[in-house]
Amino acid sequence: MSKPPRFDVIVVGAGMVGAALALALGRQGFKVALVDAHAPQLEWPHEGYDIRVSAITRASQHIFESLGAWPMMQAERISPYRDMHVWDAGGDGVIHFDSADIGEPDLGHIIENRVIVKGLHTCLVEQQNVTPFWPVQPKTMTFNETEASLLLEDGTDLQARLLVGADGARSWVRRQAGISVKGWDYDQVAMVTWVKPELFHQETAWQRFLPTGPLAFLPLTEGYCSIVWSTSPEHAAQLQAMDADRFAQELQAAFENKLGVIESVGPRAMFPLRSFETQHYILPRLALVGDAAHTIHPLAGQGVNLGLADMATLLQVLTEAQHQRDIGTERSLRRYERWRRADNRSMLIAMDGFKRLFSTDQAALCWARNLGLKLTDQMLPLKRLIMQQALGKDVPRILS
Ligand SMILES: Cc1cc2nc3c(=O)[nH]c(=O)nc-3n(C[C@H](O)[C@H](O)[C@H](O)COP(=O)(O)OP(=O)(O)OC[C@H]3O[C@@H](n4cnc5c(N)ncnc54)[C@H](O)[C@@H]3O)c2cc1C
Repeated sequence: MSKPPRFDVIVVGAGMVGAALALALGRQGFKVALVDAHAPQLEWPHEGYDIRVSAITRASQHIFESLGAWPMMQAERISPYRDMHVWDAGGDGVIHFDSADIGEPDLGHIIENRVIVKGLHTCLVEQQNVTPFWPVQPKTMTFNETEASLLLEDGTDLQARLLVGADGARSWVRRQAGISVKGWDYDQVAMVTWVKPELFHQETAWQRFLPTGPLAFLPLTEGYCSIVWSTSPEHAAQLQAMDADRFAQELQAAFENKLGVIESVGPRAMFPLRSFETQHYILPRLALVGDAAHTIHPLAGQGVNLGLADMATLLQVLTEAQHQRDIGTERSLRRYERWRRADNRSMLIAMDGFKRLFSTDQAALCWARNLGLKLTDQMLPLKRLIMQQALGKDVPRILS
């Protein structure tokens, strides 16, 4: 009987974060098994857009550039946003950010999730150190002193020094490992779609804070916009049940007609919103990255950017450890957990605070937040600082 294949790292989940991690590890000489329950989507009809898009920061752009995937994404289609315009439905507070004020060509890019996945997988095909296993479900996961084993439903038995869970918010790996999460449901749902407004979006990311949740219009190519409308589950269900014309009218009104008539609407989908972080990011022979380790409210478009920072940090830690010690030990992995937990937690708390501040209709808080928006809008040095933060922190040295 042939011996089961042995790898340095098994990555479960080949989405945006898992695919980026496998690619980066492969390029550093690690032998990687990349497992996913589904084959990646690499083809799609010409018309329309992916209903899932991500606002990608400059830091994440640098990660994709260093992995060689950015040109593929550019060749497919990406949309820069040069300005951000945010206003409050509960008052006259408005804030406007312009990339020119910090001497940058843009503040980031809106990219369809399927374009990101395709860009990474196109590079992965040429990465001989990475062996794909899909579509297949993992069946059991076991650990001993020296290795992690993953048995797949098709009978394949994989062994490695480390297993990484990159399998999203409902992570099978996390549940199998018995790692608990601490968080809360927002009692909000994100209704997502794409639309064609009458007026050009001006390469601006627009966001209006309504008492029920934020409504974002994000610029896509050819004047289209991606919509993320966070609202109560009841309201989202009503929106979902409407015919396209009625939905377009509701959307236009909620957006105060900022871009004129909504001329066409794509398919709609809903995602329940939740914030959590895991009790542990690591155990001996195990690490969690991306949504498997933490999720946040999408109002500032940071979720996958945090996941990519996880992946870049884990890469740095494993690469530094590989010549000195076993990469799967708790000692090797602890640096990763310490490094990332602090960053992810502060973003989670900030987003939660924003969400709660803008959901309240208490008169004193409404007044304070509108005043805050107006005052901040007049303070260019502060706005420059906020924009620098929004571009993302420096990526770990290994990817710069
Ligand atoms: C409405 C909305 C808007 C958002 N907008 C933004 C934004 O603008 N910017 C931003 O940075 N973030 C945004 N996010 C967050 C972002 O989508 C997530 O952070 C991101 O998708 C996480 O990537 P991931 O690779 O960790 O997980 P996922 O994208 O969930 O990928 C998980 C992968 O694991 C695979 N998988 C799942 N279960 C198994 C299993 N049992 N076995 C094997 N494989 C499995 C899946 O097939 C998939 O390929 C948004 C989220 C929502 C809900």
